[in-house]
Amino acid sequence: MFSHGKSKALKDEADKVILGGVNSPSRSYKAVGEGAPVVMERAEGAYFYDVDGNRYIDYLAAYGPIITGHGHPRIHEAIAEQSSKGILYGTPTTLEIDFAKKIQEAIPSLERVRFVNSGTEAVMTTIRVARAYTGRNKTIKFEGCYHGHSDLVLVAAGSGPSQLGTPDSAGVPQGVAEDVITVPFNNIEDFRTAISHFGDEVAAVLVEPIVGNFGIVEPFDGFLEEVNQAAHDNGSLVIYDEVITAFRFMYGGAQNFLNVDPDLTAMGKIIGGGTPIGAYGGRLDIMENVAPLGPAYQAGTMAGNPLSMAAGIACLEVLEKPGVYEELERLGKMLEDGLTELIGKYGIKASINRLVGALTIYFTDRTVTDYNMAEESDGEVFSKFFNGLIQRGINIAPSKYEAWFLTTEHTEDDIRETLSIVEEVFKNDL
Ligand code: PMP
Repeated sequence: MFSHGKSKALKDEADKVILGGVNSPSRSYKAVGEGAPVVMERAEGAYFYDVDGNRYIDYLAAYGPIITGHGHPRIHEAIAEQSSKGILYGTPTTLEIDFAKKIQEAIPSLERVRFVNSGTEAVMTTIRVARAYTGRNKTIKFEGCYHGHSDLVLVAAGSGPSQLGTPDSAGVPQGVAEDVITVPFNNIEDFRTAISHFGDEVAAVLVEPIVGNFGIVEPFDGFLEEVNQAAHDNGSLVIYDEVITAFRFMYGGAQNFLNVDPDLTAMGKIIGGGTPIGAYGGRLDIMENVAPLGPAYQAGTMAGNPLSMAAGIACLEVLEKPGVYEELERLGKMLEDGLTELIGKYGIKASINRLVGALTIYFTDRTVTDYNMAEESDGEVFSKFFNGLIQRGINIAPSKYEAWFLTTEHTEDDIRETLSIVEEVFKNDL
């Protein structure tokens, strides 16, 4: 069992200067027993090394962006080369044009793109643009989907807010919250009822086309097509939040994977190759509402910064190579099969949702298809599982609502080692 003495001491120090000791609440271990979060010192490939000298197999992947593993040489070189030519210009660059072309080739619904700095900004702006285009105010979102921390979407939010018991954040004005309608994911009847009830007040429907924020949950066959149809019949736009899903399951978005196009798309995470990024885009006639062409304002000192553009291009160059996603699928299946076998062997009440290289273990025996079912996953069992893993060298997110992410650097040996550690945890800790 690992010793985490230095991490514990650093928590006391951090608590005195950084609010709550963390710069993003989901990094705290509050939901899994108040322990001190492990402080990492170095990351390489599929591994983390902490300040106490322990090594972990990393399935956090920084909550999704690190799909090519830590310190991929191609991305490292791209950043180093760009940094020698200047970090930030505040002018147009050729890099941003090249990168926009590359993304557009992969996701053709993006007739025009804008780069921003985070997923939060990307989603926030798509909602503003939808409002500007439709002249309407309300947004329909799905319970447990997380779309960043802007006022507009901190209602029934999954991920970190659910983990910490604040799916409806304090500090969001009532008037703003009233413009957000939430319905259960995968329930087309409830969606139809909501959209027909609010009718011409609904500017947009915002959805994670494949959910990543109450674990990995796929839409039922036809669900997204029916959402599109009902939204468009109502004169509302459809926004896909692909902050987690873009380039996660294939070279392209979940929209390519599922073959359904939204009107607007928000992205982040993977497209920055590990650097701060967000992007949004979509149909030209809608995007034309954004300044300087139109009246909806969005700007950013750091937007399209050269380091993120260079890292993003390099990341996509790694991902577009043949075989990348097939290998993620192969290892993902190996991990899922191994976990399923262990769940059976030790009689654990658990189910797994997996798509390509992303999976979630829910400590419930039902197959999870919506947020209510994800909530049924036993938090106490998850805490024991998490703590058992982190003390033996596996790093996953400290929340039952998050996914495990594989990277291109994970190997069969890593999966075998992971499964033997999981077996120890199942045997001794649960
Ligand atoms: N949308 C989704 C689907 C996300 O998963 C996240 C972050 N987990 C965001 C938006 C917000 O992105 P960021 O943390 O980069 O602001």
